[in-house]
Amino acid sequence: AEPSVKYKRVLLKISGEALMGDQGYGLHPPTVARIAREVKSVHDMGVEICMVIGGGNIFRGLAGSAQGMERTTADYMGMLATVLNALGMQAQLEALGIHTRVISAIPMDQVCEPYIRRRAVRHLEKKRICVFAAGTGNPYFTTDTAATLRANEMACEAIFMGKNGVDGVYDMDPKKHPEAKRYETVSYDEVLQKNLGVMDASAIALARDNNLPIIVFPLDEPGGFKGILAGKGTYTRVQG
Ligand code: UDP
Repeated sequence: AEPSVKYKRVLLKISGEALMGDQGYGLHPPTVARIAREVKSVHDMGVEICMVIGGGNIFRGLAGSAQGMERTTADYMGMLATVLNALGMQAQLEALGIHTRVISAIPMDQVCEPYIRRRAVRHLEKKRICVFAAGTGNPYFTTDTAATLRANEMACEAIFMGKNGVDGVYDMDPKKHPEAKRYETVSYDEVLQKNLGVMDASAIALARDNNLPIIVFPLDEPGGFKGILAGKGTYTRVQG
């Protein structure tokens, strides 16, 4: 790795919506390809990369249950949506020549690998990107919780939350309040108390209990991911 890089192993979390471009639904391959290039630039630095991608561009369990579906079934549909996104990302990463494994919390052997912790660690050591799919495999959780869980299991040094249209965590919604201020750093407890919307509360608590830093940064900034890993650009660090 280049000497300026502070991280050896990280987890990048993006929402499903980050993949849909301006389509309003589903996957937009050129957008997925653009994100894959951002990831490649970090992979080229020698950093080991885990990814968790949400499913909200296709299906959210809560939305299904609000429309009368049984919640657990709706959540399984949401988890399957994340597998579609993970496969879409794998295709674009492999088009760039990066060996990538999709690893699902719900076994589906013809499609991708099942989650086996030691095997995933080995992939990372061999510089393969691991895209963790199907969330935690459990209903009532989110891909934010899955990201925190996997980052802990894989001993990542931090979670990088790549956002669109926002460059960190603000004390109030910057789209509604022009006077909103961005935090350089903010504690887990303040995020929870003020409901600052970095991740859902169980994911924040899991990060806090394991002292896992969360770095919120703009993924739509070209070269942004690489810059943030070297400590450049604007971002917010959530820590103890
Ligand atoms: N989900 C779940 N368990 C998990 C992770 C995800 O049930 O461990 C379901 C849940 O229904 C959620 C959907 O998958 O709404 C998509 O994930 P999420 O909403 O986190 O996606 P994002 O908002 O990041 O796109």
